[in-house]
Amino acid sequence: MRIGLPRALLYYWFGPAWKAFLQEIRLMPVVSRMTTKEILKQGVRVGVDEACLPVKVYLGHCLNLMSECDLLLVPRIVNLRKKEFICPKFMGLPEMVKAAVTNEYGPEGKERVLVWKSEHRSFWDAPPALPDYLRKLAGPGKIKTGLHRAKQVFREYRALLHQGYLPDEAEEILAGKNVHRREQGAAGLGVIGHPYCLYDHFLNMSLLTLLQRREYNYAVFTPELFSEEELSAEVADLAKPIFWTLGRRMLGAVRALRKKHVAGIIHLAAFACGPEALIGELIRRECQSYGLPLLQINLDEHSGEAGLLTRIEAFLDLINTHAHRREGIGCG
Ligand code: SF4
Repeated sequence: MRIGLPRALLYYWFGPAWKAFLQEIRLMPVVSRMTTKEILKQGVRVGVDEACLPVKVYLGHCLNLMSECDLLLVPRIVNLRKKEFICPKFMGLPEMVKAAVTNEYGPEGKERVLVWKSEHRSFWDAPPALPDYLRKLAGPGKIKTGLHRAKQVFREYRALLHQGYLPDEAEEILAGKNVHRREQGAAGLGVIGHPYCLYDHFLNMSLLTLLQRREYNYAVFTPELFSEEELSAEVADLAKPIFWTLGRRMLGAVRALRKKHVAGIIHLAAFACGPEALIGELIRRECQSYGLPLLQINLDEHSGEAGLLTRIEAFLDLINTHAHRREGIGCG
């Protein structure tokens, strides 16, 4: 039985652990390939206009996987921490996927969607809603050990992200492959955003690796380099806590990055993201109050590499000017 896992949205946080669970209960995980123009086009075609870009990408991955798997595993995430919430699009994701696959494959399409729900607890506390035949096939003991294994892989994977490996590199390391650490430049640069904006190489046109290339040579810091405790501590003094988990992490990262003396911050936001409209403004004010250069980029389905490169280069020039000013070097 092949179970499809779309490589989009919070796959970048949980994917390897979902895979480990499926393997432990003797199901075969099939992960979609990296996002491509074709996948994005499919998602845009079936997604409602109001859906944000990452959700459209997710739908594209689902349609792409349908022919390669028997069932599709879709998470329904309500919250990941107590007293916090995650964007409502994660709650309605299974319904959006079911509508999209029903359009393409008819009513039997939605029967092929398995939902794994996480609410007020982690994924590893309860298994996905497996149909009876799969539950019997796996056996109750196996499901328990599967959840245990998933929790273990989740910890190992997050530890690798924390060390600065990108998600695809961390997955290769978990699979026993050798991954060379990239040389990091001397100057630090923060790149913040939701994990699916930061780590989807197609959506951000490989920005993270680009910034580390010799001609730019930055040490790149993302929110995943900080622990959950560090990020929460950074925003503990806010008069009103931010209850969006992803937003809190981004604002916490801005404060933590400032202490690392990064030269500037690039904020990658997704087109049509509701929470980002508020968090983006908070990030802008925060950077302004520190005098920290900030570039906010809105990723959309029409983003082009040339336009992005021009903006990045202009921003890096600005950073250099800013650094020279701070050091008191005349810069014209
Ligand atoms: S947080 Fe924003 S980008 Fe992420 S799913 Fe919600 S609307 Fe989309």
